[in-house]
Amino acid sequence: MPEVIKEATSTGKQLPSHAKVVIIGGGVVGCSILFHLAKFGWKDAVLLERDELTSGSSWHAAGQIHTISSDPNISRLQSYTIGLYKEIEELSGQSVGLHMTGGFYLASNKTWYDYLKRERSKARYMGLQQEFISLQEVAERHPLIDPKHYLAALWDDQDGDLDPSGTTYAFAKAARHYGAQYFTHTPATATTQRADGTWDVTTPNGTINAEYIVNCGGLWAREVGHMSGLNFPVQPMEHHYLLTEGIDEIVNHPTRLPCGIDYEANLYFRQERDGMLLGTYEPVGVPWKVEGTPWDFGHELLNPNLEHIADRLELGFERIPALANAGIRQAVNGPFTFGPDGNPMIGPVPGMHNYWCAVGVMAGFCQGGGVGLTMAEWMIDGEPSIDVWAMDVARFGSWASPDWGTVKSTENYERRFVMTFPNETLPKGRRQQTTALYDRLIARGARMGQSFGLEHALWFADSPEDAWEDPTFERNRSHDYVARECDAVRNGVGGIELANFAKHSITGPGARDWLNRTMAGHIPKPGRLTLTPMLTEKGRLYGDLTVACLGDEDFMLFGSGAMQDAHSRFFARTLPDTVRHENQTGGWHGIGLAGPQSRELLQRITRLDVSADALKFRDTRRTFVGGVPVILNRLSFSGELGFEIYCRPQFLLLLSEAIEEAGADLDYRWYGARTLMSLRLEKGWGAWGLEFRPDFNAVESGMDVFINWNKDFVGKEATARFRDEGVERKLVTLTVDTPMDVTLDEAVLVNDAAVGYITSGGYAHHVGKSMAMAYVASEHAAAGTMVNVEIMGEIYPAEVQGAPLYDPNGGRMRS
Ligand SMILES: Cc1cc2nc3c(=O)[nH]c(=O)nc-3n(C[C@H](O)[C@H](O)[C@H](O)COP(=O)(O)OP(=O)(O)OC[C@H]3O[C@@H](n4cnc5c(N)ncnc54)[C@H](O)[C@@H]3O)c2cc1C
Repeated sequence: MPEVIKEATSTGKQLPSHAKVVIIGGGVVGCSILFHLAKFGWKDAVLLERDELTSGSSWHAAGQIHTISSDPNISRLQSYTIGLYKEIEELSGQSVGLHMTGGFYLASNKTWYDYLKRERSKARYMGLQQEFISLQEVAERHPLIDPKHYLAALWDDQDGDLDPSGTTYAFAKAARHYGAQYFTHTPATATTQRADGTWDVTTPNGTINAEYIVNCGGLWAREVGHMSGLNFPVQPMEHHYLLTEGIDEIVNHPTRLPCGIDYEANLYFRQERDGMLLGTYEPVGVPWKVEGTPWDFGHELLNPNLEHIADRLELGFERIPALANAGIRQAVNGPFTFGPDGNPMIGPVPGMHNYWCAVGVMAGFCQGGGVGLTMAEWMIDGEPSIDVWAMDVARFGSWASPDWGTVKSTENYERRFVMTFPNETLPKGRRQQTTALYDRLIARGARMGQSFGLEHALWFADSPEDAWEDPTFERNRSHDYVARECDAVRNGVGGIELANFAKHSITGPGARDWLNRTMAGHIPKPGRLTLTPMLTEKGRLYGDLTVACLGDEDFMLFGSGAMQDAHSRFFARTLPDTVRHENQTGGWHGIGLAGPQSRELLQRITRLDVSADALKFRDTRRTFVGGVPVILNRLSFSGELGFEIYCRPQFLLLLSEAIEEAGADLDYRWYGARTLMSLRLEKGWGAWGLEFRPDFNAVESGMDVFINWNKDFVGKEATARFRDEGVERKLVTLTVDTPMDVTLDEAVLVNDAAVGYITSGGYAHHVGKSMAMAYVASEHAAAGTMVNVEIMGEIYPAEVQGAPLYDPNGGRMRS
């Protein structure tokens, strides 16, 4: 293990009484944020560390670095992090002990090979240097590995290792170079907000007042959060690696050996001095200090429990046989903090003024630089330069209790090197939020998924016993059931639960004016609905919302359920005193009806005249359906004649009974999220989080058709520039000639060069085609253009579509 640097950096120095920003925690994450803030101009930034720098998990990290991640933007930020190390070394004069050895990702079965092919495809459009190498080359580059266990190896030049303590100090010293300060032996003991919104951070060496505070408490992130009444659902986990004595083959090897990850064995390894380091994410993780991290925990390690990881080590000894005979120099068991989905939780905490966090960073040396960059951009510029939803603290709401956090963080630790397939729903922490229909839909054969902690139906089998599917990248047994649901919606009538759409009420004097400025589109008249993009100042998409005008200065917005806290946070920045915003997502559940028979069904259970002339496309009404009070919207994301019926949760069961009863002779069928995603593909409609996200602007995505240019709105200037100057890429809909549908992030190729990437896709059952949506270079976006799509290493031809394949003129939904 690298030596721990101990340096009395700032002892005795007077703590200032004021700073623009105070960062709590001097691990790699806090120091990287300090560096980036100072580098980008916020020199009045102060970091407080309760002990020496690196006194949490940072000092005992294995120091292995790589770019691979399930999220392409996190991969990009990991690549940025690795590229940064030379810069901070030079600025600080502090060695980071970097060895850019390159590394392998090793697959020992077909599934992992498929996974690597998908990663390779992603790397093509991201411009990352990943290539398959032969197993013979694996053995040549790393003679200790027995290649017979493997099927394939993906090589990445950007992998390597570093000295964790040196790196943390290099960030801190480079920050000091730009004018920032850090204070060791200065624990924050209280964080209190003043009436003016600024923060007092109390320490034994005095109190410092700041505009912003940032929780980078690492192992103590939960405790630092508690000081301000916050519960972060993160959990420190025990983690082992072994360091061996010198191994002759390594001593005699002319160059440093590459590092690697063996997925099936759950192992990572690299050279350390003349021996090796071997670490494992064992199948049964051990949460550490569930009740809270003690303040007196210092530069300490935990007792190793080699028995607990014995089966993993055995696999390691098989695959790298020299390890079996090498002496163990040290067994390290150290805690580090995981989040519920394994990704960091960063950004401004919703519901708080100027309280920021960067917690649950489980791969601080791969990600710390990118986290620092993102936080600094976000704090200084008001928004990060790329979509960081996969790391945004807002993706977990107040429903994410500490208990749920421990269960999910443990699951994610255990799954660190375990494949999650696109159709897979993870088993732990389920039923955190359910609706009144949960048992009923299960009884009808629902296979459930979870979004923002809420259970929702994915598809319906014939019975509860029939509602299963194997995890796979390929079409699975749900395919035929989804086809049946699509048929019901296109030819009869289907119903889908709507609880997981967000509902935001915006009311009070000035509501219309504020909406007009905040939304780029038209704000409807009373009784009407509009669809509108919501943009950031820089013209990035931050929402696609349906606005219902229920009365004068009385609006309800419907949008992405997962984004509900992020949108609330966005609204809070500009909401005037007279306008009231309330996130009412939990207060309005509902059912969407769609299909040519949906009007007939609806008319049977409401006294309102719902004929085409009386209730027009995009009308909204407060009325009664099935004997319960509802908000009734005439539209459907299925692209079919349809109605969204929202009611208070206590009425949902009765509403569902009325629908099922009235629909019995119309062959009413429940449908799930997969059907909705299939139906919208053949309409060429993008979805939030896939086609629509802050990586893209309204012109690229085609959302500019909804913009009202005759008014001022947030992001107008930037969007007008995109419109006038043109954009380099466009969102397109493709038909793909393939037996295996795309999922996400596959490369789009022309003449073997990546010209774009897939944002979503699947099988469009009604039109009988495999389809995809993709952002491609504008010169390849014209209707009829032929491109190729790489799906799991195979190349399939695809054609850019010029119009929706289903109901191109929208006559059905307007009927
Ligand atoms: C065994 C092991 C192996 C690992 N291997 C790797 C690897 O190979 N690659 C990789 O990228 N990552 C690895 N990691 C993970 C990595 O160590 C963490 O991601 C990283 O250390 C997280 O840094 P942090 O700054 O968020 O938290 P920490 O390092 O825990 O830092 C938090 C800091 O905040 C301070 N603090 C807390 N409360 C207060 C307070 N109230 N006032 C002032 N200061 C406070 C603490 O003293 C501490 O110094 C490994 C971790 C372990 C345990």
